[in-house]
Amino acid sequence: MPGKEVTAARAALLGRWRQLLGDGAFLGPPLDEALPDVGEFPPRRLAALLRPRDQDQVRAVLGAAAELGGAVPLYPVSTGRNWGLGSRQPPAHDCALLDLSRLDQVRELDLERGYAIVEPGVTQGELSRRLDSTPFMVNVTGACADTSILGNALERGVGFARQRTDDLVALEVVLASGEQVRVGSFWGAPGAAAPIFHYRHGIGPDLLPLFCQSNLGVVTAGVVALLPRPECVRVFQASFPGAVLDRALGLLRDLHADGLLNNVSRAYSAGGPSSGPGAGEAFLFAGAYSGRRGVADAVAEAVLGELRRAGLGSNAVAFDAEDADRFPDADRALADGFAGRPAACPRIRSSFGAHSCDLDRAGAEGWLLFLPVVPLEAAAVRRALALSEAIAGAEGLTRNAILNVLSASCVDLAISVRFPRTADGSRRGHAVLGRLHRAFGQEGLFPYRADIDHQGAAALFGPGPYHDTLRRLKRALDPHGIIAPGRYLPRE
Ligand SMILES: Cc1cc2nc3c(=O)[nH]c(=O)nc-3n(C[C@H](O)[C@H](O)[C@H](O)COP(=O)(O)OP(=O)(O)OC[C@H]3O[C@@H](n4cnc5c(N)ncnc54)[C@H](O)[C@@H]3O)c2cc1C
Repeated sequence: MPGKEVTAARAALLGRWRQLLGDGAFLGPPLDEALPDVGEFPPRRLAALLRPRDQDQVRAVLGAAAELGGAVPLYPVSTGRNWGLGSRQPPAHDCALLDLSRLDQVRELDLERGYAIVEPGVTQGELSRRLDSTPFMVNVTGACADTSILGNALERGVGFARQRTDDLVALEVVLASGEQVRVGSFWGAPGAAAPIFHYRHGIGPDLLPLFCQSNLGVVTAGVVALLPRPECVRVFQASFPGAVLDRALGLLRDLHADGLLNNVSRAYSAGGPSSGPGAGEAFLFAGAYSGRRGVADAVAEAVLGELRRAGLGSNAVAFDAEDADRFPDADRALADGFAGRPAACPRIRSSFGAHSCDLDRAGAEGWLLFLPVVPLEAAAVRRALALSEAIAGAEGLTRNAILNVLSASCVDLAISVRFPRTADGSRRGHAVLGRLHRAFGQEGLFPYRADIDHQGAAALFGPGPYHDTLRRLKRALDPHGIIAPGRYLPRE
């Protein structure tokens, strides 16, 4: 039972938040409805739902929490569509959910230098629309258009062009004290004639990465590098059986090393019965070269030639993303992704049976994500596929896998598991998730990003002195433990 003082401080803080936010603070029954979750993680108790309108309100909310000794911790989300990993649920109980989706301004769009200053509620759909017919585009992900640019980048999400963190140039952050700090050399010295966009590291220790996958601050804006819109996005598609996976992976590694594929290539496993490690599965491969048309023509000849020589080219096609409609086998959503256009919600409906922004409430099945990073080596990838298939199969579930090739040496293996949304289905889904974490950890394969039940697993963070350093940083910046308890900090 909380002591009287704690209870009084909680009540005082909730009252202060109500004063500060008015109808943007929800403290009562609507809270029961606030956290639907397609991943069916054990439901977290919520102390309040706070929906500030601007950065001043965010600072005031954190300032009040600091004054009252962190009586109620805060869990920030941008648009809260972290599907498969917890959605809007905090890792810990009794937090106030700090929903930043009403901070939705594109504060600046510089179409000469190629950057945008965006707030957390700015979605990839909105930014992509604003860039239509301009010399720039945005690195979009395969999630729907209504997901947040910043929320995903802060999680180091994976876009079609590159990992989203690589798009971040600078951040505006509110610390647990309520103070605001701007990190990244972009903001420059006071009085600088122009933003420092040409060199992102600044001088001395770089604090920007401290705020990615961390609980050290609440981000209220970010400077995002846009991608120069290429003259041509040439997309390659092919399908191949699991039996030739080794050859396909070797080829992918070479094509990435040579720069012939300069986006994140994807190979989608179509699932299916296995007659050996990954051998019974079929894969759909999609990759792209973005650049000048003349170069793309030469690249296409080389890529298709290599696919044929490797025996993978029988159904391979190459087409411009803008022409995808003219190719019957072209996957339009993939072509759009490489061209910087995110999928609208209804498109994702077909695979989930619900409008994607309704997944949490109405998704017909539960859905969990496990995201290990695996070396781009045939043996390692095959082992990871076989292991995940066996673990899911043991609970009577099927896993799907997408190999996102981040570089010539690294694959983000997105393993997803669907399960019936019943008590037993959910138990089986979570048993699979737990076993995936344990079994992959034993093989030294760790996720690049984790769900709310596993973000605090000590094994993810390496040896002890590193844990202590992280905890010291947390204590220095957030002595009352106000921001996102349990998020990416090893449990004691
Ligand atoms: C069909 C489908 C396809 C998907 N494809 C992809 C894909 O291609 N790539 C990919 O990466 N993911 C993908 N996902 C997973 C997920 O839906 C996306 O990553 C989505 O962008 C995350 O939700 P969000 O943008 O609303 O971020 P949020 O849920 O708002 O944020 C994610 C986390 O970051 C932290 N955070 C957010 N904002 C702040 C802030 N302002 N300050 C401090 N901390 C903050 C919070 O802890 C939050 O939980 C996919 C999901 C589905 C269902």
